[in-house]
Amino acid sequence: MDTKCAECDAQISIPDDAIVGEIVSCKDCGVEYEVAEIKNGTAMLKPAETIEEDWGE
Ligand SMILES: [Zn+2]
Repeated sequence: MDTKCAECDAQISIPDDAIVGEIVSCKDCGVEYEVAEIKNGTAMLKPAETIEEDWGE
């Protein structure tokens, strides 16, 4: 299944056996998404929660 990157509109390929919670990344801009839901063979993506380890320490 394919979907589009919300950031740059590039096509993102999602494995057919992807599961909810799987992380996919856009090969064009590198933004990471998490599979939020799979409905009727279409994956709904949400931006992945990236843990910034920049605490200014
Ligand atoms: Zn992108």
